[in-house]
Amino acid sequence: MKTSDLRPHGIMFHHFYNEKHIQGQGAISADELAQIIEYYQQSYQILPAREWLEKANQGTLADNEACLTFDDALLCQYEVALPVLQQFDLTAFWFVYSSVITGGSEKLEIYRKFRTACFESIDEFYRCFFRTIGDSPYQADVATALRGFIPEEYLKQFPFYTNPDRQFRFVRDQVLGPTAYTEVLDLMMQAEKIDLPEFTSDLWMNDQQVLDLHEREHVIGLHSHTHPTALAALDANAQRAEYQTNFETLNRILRVAPDTVSHPCNSYNTDTLQILKDLEIKVGFRSNMAEQQISQLEFPREDHANIMDKIAA
Ligand SMILES: [Zn+2]
Repeated sequence: MKTSDLRPHGIMFHHFYNEKHIQGQGAISADELAQIIEYYQQSYQILPAREWLEKANQGTLADNEACLTFDDALLCQYEVALPVLQQFDLTAFWFVYSSVITGGSEKLEIYRKFRTACFESIDEFYRCFFRTIGDSPYQADVATALRGFIPEEYLKQFPFYTNPDRQFRFVRDQVLGPTAYTEVLDLMMQAEKIDLPEFTSDLWMNDQQVLDLHEREHVIGLHSHTHPTALAALDANAQRAEYQTNFETLNRILRVAPDTVSHPCNSYNTDTLQILKDLEIKVGFRSNMAEQQISQLEFPREDHANIMDKIAA
């Protein structure tokens, strides 16, 4: 493992699968999580979350000291990853966007399960997506935007995306935007006659499970309330509302004030950092290792997919 850019950081995890939780894109099993931890421990010291946090606050982290982090309050993390952490006697950071643990839902996560559960392959989903756009009012805009689009150049810092992934994400994020994207996906889901309450029942943890993690000495941190994909594009007031609600909800459930954050989709700006300071958030995480750490609210994180690649190499 290359150690030239050794510095304190987190490892970032999202989706897990087992017999109950379907194996979506990028999802890993309990065994793979164990493999990653064992592999990482050869070169790094993985600390329990509270110990890592305390050292971060004191500025005493050694360059080889890493921590485990789980974003998005996913039920698959609680049911698949937590037992593995217990085997290793490790605790982690869990960054929770609060709308979904208080009875709300979030469309991107629903759409992720939809494209996994209802299509033979991700490329089959992409074909249906572009077919649906072809019959929608967005047909001309998308065709124009894709003229001259070079997939290799888009989201270059995330080497694990395929070219179809990049084209899909480009159209979703840069051409359609949230409203039109939602419209296209809802059309696709209607065509499949999905029952939403039943379909979403295994996606997120509830407040009791989040409290359980806290009581087992894990660290619960902020991740916004509704998980906008481009938080930094919101004005300062809207950003403040996101984090204020997130903070108050977790504070009420845990009966302690959260003091950590991970930036949803790595999206933040100087307004965001000021808002987080106002809430007395002490430590934060980015979603990649691309840049040097700039402040206590911008610790780097390695995506588990990059570690899997190194193990396979
Ligand atoms: Zn997230």
